[in-house]
Amino acid sequence: MGLIYSGKLWIIQRFISGFSNNSFLVTCKRTKKSIIIDTPAAPVDLLKSSKNFHIVGILITHGHSDHLEGFKDVYDRHQVPVGIGNNDINSLPLKPKDYINVNDGKINRFGDLVIRSIETPGHTAGSTCYFLPGESPGLEPHLFSGDTLFPGGPGKSSSYANFLEIVKSITTKIYTLPKHTYILPGHGEFITLEDSTKEFNEFNNNPLDNKTFGNVKWIR
Ligand SMILES: [Zn+2]
Repeated sequence: MGLIYSGKLWIIQRFISGFSNNSFLVTCKRTKKSIIIDTPAAPVDLLKSSKNFHIVGILITHGHSDHLEGFKDVYDRHQVPVGIGNNDINSLPLKPKDYINVNDGKINRFGDLVIRSIETPGHTAGSTCYFLPGESPGLEPHLFSGDTLFPGGPGKSSSYANFLEIVKSITTKIYTLPKHTYILPGHGEFITLEDSTKEFNEFNNNPLDNKTFGNVKWIR
């Protein structure tokens, strides 16, 4: 748990609960409008902190249950529009009243927050990353990458075809973002995009075969 970023316009807080899951609270300093990203089980600290802000939306990175076990608790408290990739929408434990459009490239604004949705299929068909650009040139952007990309490798893939799909999402949709972007995954710690790219380049020197899937590490 803790403060990850505090700039002039917004702050990012991280909470850990459930299956060592990260959830995030991203808040516009001027309006106190806040977005919750992912809802793992027992989101006690997240809900406690959310009392201080005006929650205006819930964004879900993908439909796996460990990211949604706290969804009902959060939604009961804050009945706000929900964004989740179309292909994962049926995983929501309940049907929200309103949705946030998180189609690829869609930009949603909440106060001074500007969040771009990036569809990154592979780990699940509806996996979606959320990109918060730097507040001004030189300040770091952040990417909420869900289970698509971690320090050390991609999220779990269930077949070779899935693995190729997640790699395509990462190389074409994530590694094309600014290199000083901080990648904030759905579990564990963070990495810069530049360092992640270096890890991948090392991996990419080796040949692939059709047994390359599951929990693949960039560096073996
Ligand atoms: Zn997952």
